[in-house]
Amino acid sequence: MEELQRKFLNIVTQVRMHLEYQRALGITAIEMRTIEPLRSLKRAASDQEAAGQVRVGLSEAPVLPQSAGLTAVREELGNCIRCKLHKSRKNIVFGEGDPGAVAVFVGEGPGYEEDQQGRPFVGSAGQLLTDIIVKGMKLKREEVYICNIVKCRPPDNRNPEPDEIEACEPFLHKQLQAMNPKVIVALGNVAVKTLLKTSEGITALRGTWKKYQNIPLMPTFHPAYLLRNPKDKALVWKDIQQVMTEMAKVRKG
Ligand code: SF4
Repeated sequence: MEELQRKFLNIVTQVRMHLEYQRALGITAIEMRTIEPLRSLKRAASDQEAAGQVRVGLSEAPVLPQSAGLTAVREELGNCIRCKLHKSRKNIVFGEGDPGAVAVFVGEGPGYEEDQQGRPFVGSAGQLLTDIIVKGMKLKREEVYICNIVKCRPPDNRNPEPDEIEACEPFLHKQLQAMNPKVIVALGNVAVKTLLKTSEGITALRGTWKKYQNIPLMPTFHPAYLLRNPKDKALVWKDIQQVMTEMAKVRKG
């Protein structure tokens, strides 16, 4: 019995470590599907819990293909030193959200708060983006995926330079390839110019559907711009309404 309990605790520890690793990668949602061996494991877990011996947060989830794809991209990125931005960063900000999300938001790069926490869009501009998603789109933040063109903070929040974008963007392309979203929202000049390979600015492009590798892409203003120019919030709301219409079509289809 002791041997069985030791084996069970070993499995629980491994599952927990795996889930914590997934969370560190920014993966916050995984599909739930019960399979027989895991049902047995869950029964064993509740028996143990009932006996007051162990309390675990055990997921029954096999990893989605999108999660596995993102995990592979994160592993390939590693402790990246491919461009000079690595010198001043505290954390790589890989991205976070649902790997199977219908909509992916792509910003420019991490700011101070994002660098501190290793999470995208958590500063004041991030709060505005969260409001757009939660209050405007009536979604949970975890139901979309949020990432940036570069994954390390440019010093003093300057724009990423061309060599930095060139070094980092292959990983964003691989993330998008792994997730294969139905809609991309490109936030601001750097995101739009990088994803669409255009020299046209966001003011000219916003509000009109474009395509990124056959995926509908909506260019709109960056939330940091909106903090400085709140009068343009109405324009962004118009763009987001188009995004919501597109997402509704996908859900119906
Ligand atoms: Fe690597 Fe991208 Fe960070 Fe540059 S910005 S060091 S390419 S992860």
